[in-house]
Amino acid sequence: MMHTDRDTFPSYRGEMEYVCQQCGARYSGQELYYTCPECSGVFLLQDLCFPRLLETPGQRWREIFDRRAMSKHPALRGIFRFYELISPILEVDDIVWLGEGNTPIVNANSGLQAVAGQPLAYKNDGQNPSASFKDRGMACALSAIKAMARKHSWDQVLTVCASTGDTSAAAAMYAAYVGPPVTSVVLLPQGRVTPQQLGQPLGSGAVVLELPGVFDDCMRVVEYLADHYRIALLNSKNSWRILGQESYAFEVAQWYDWDVSGKALFVPIGNAGNISAIMAGFIKLHRLGIISGLPRIFGVQSSHADPVYRYYSQPQGQRSYAPVSVSPSVAQAAMIGNPVSFPRVAALVQEYEKTGGEGSFNVIQVTEEAIMEGMLLANRHGHIACTQGGECMAGLLRAKELGLLEHKETAILDATAHSLKFMGFQEMYFQDRFPPEYGVHPRDELRNQPQPVLSEQDTAHLSAQDFAARAAEEIVRRLGLT
Ligand SMILES: *Cc1c(COP(=O)(O)O)cnc(C)c1O
Ligand SMILES: [Zn+2]
Repeated sequence: MMHTDRDTFPSYRGEMEYVCQQCGARYSGQELYYTCPECSGVFLLQDLCFPRLLETPGQRWREIFDRRAMSKHPALRGIFRFYELISPILEVDDIVWLGEGNTPIVNANSGLQAVAGQPLAYKNDGQNPSASFKDRGMACALSAIKAMARKHSWDQVLTVCASTGDTSAAAAMYAAYVGPPVTSVVLLPQGRVTPQQLGQPLGSGAVVLELPGVFDDCMRVVEYLADHYRIALLNSKNSWRILGQESYAFEVAQWYDWDVSGKALFVPIGNAGNISAIMAGFIKLHRLGIISGLPRIFGVQSSHADPVYRYYSQPQGQRSYAPVSVSPSVAQAAMIGNPVSFPRVAALVQEYEKTGGEGSFNVIQVTEEAIMEGMLLANRHGHIACTQGGECMAGLLRAKELGLLEHKETAILDATAHSLKFMGFQEMYFQDRFPPEYGVHPRDELRNQPQPVLSEQDTAHLSAQDFAARAAEEIVRRLGLT
């Protein structure tokens, strides 16, 4: 009999439960919770049936995931290639796939490896459909919402998020795809978003509401709404998003044939959801015997928004966490002084270090200038890193400087968004227009500007043929062609 892809849709079903990271309370994963009703703590979602997955040997899992990598089944093309490890309560029709996941890992060329002095590669999460890694989490969150709407026969679901960037772009796009009964609402601080950031949710048809104030003001409004009305909040505390973002770790492991020892992953930290998910993902793979060793994780923060760095730079046993007030940062998507996922990081690092040992988790602090230089350096060698991807490059160079890397360790840098989303900072660098609070002074060799060849005046009276000849001659002169 012919094997269709539908035959291979997993039959395993788990049972998801929310676990509060603050008070330990547990709630059924069949319902929609944003934060703990007892204590407002953040959740991590757990599959209670996970021990059953342990009955399948690691080698078998590797074969299953490798076979699924060839599947043409849309529900298994993206993050749900790893169905059993993400949210194994969804039915095939609940799963939303818009092309997210399976982003390429691109090795640095020899020029960039020479500058970095280290084998390295970029994982281009900007090649997700809304051009950032946020799509991984949104694919999972909207699939879960779709499933709940179906089971409970909800006739209206408002998905709401406050955001100044990639979260709202992803939320609006996935909600637009799911369609009724889901409607997407985005709250933005008036006048504090770039045209690209505003354009994405508008283009997806979301209700875009603007409020005077900053992001935090919008956040308080959506949390008030969530406390009083039935809405689905898609902000960073949403634990379904964490599950989807674990797929980054699974894909890295699979790309390297399930051998990630000797690898060092560099990840920018903002609200710390992404780094939490990546650690949680590797821990799962390790528990199931799919990988035998953990890669090292290097979180990276700008000195303008570095609460996690500050926490981990204190001696073990004497650490205390304090939010910081941020200064403007080119790594704007990570410009957060009080990361909502900090409790998740604290819990996961303990577990990670238990298996990975000392040095398996690190946080590096970098300057704004190093972030810009890191981004430009990468992109001048053929990459498409955003400023946060540049932050990873800066983190790698800094970690080397600190002697934290083994000579042969391969660095995998997370380019969390596409460079196009953050073009404004590149332009400021090239034009030397950074406001002083960034502390960014461009280096001439990294700047680039369009060069006018001839003026209107020069060419006003030329025939088309003479124009071409004049222009070509001028270009020959400029380029020194012989
Ligand atoms: C959201 C975001 C980050 C920060 O990720 P966290 O999960 O908040 O730590 C980094 N880079 C980009 C491009 C983002 O959109
Ligand atoms: Zn709680």
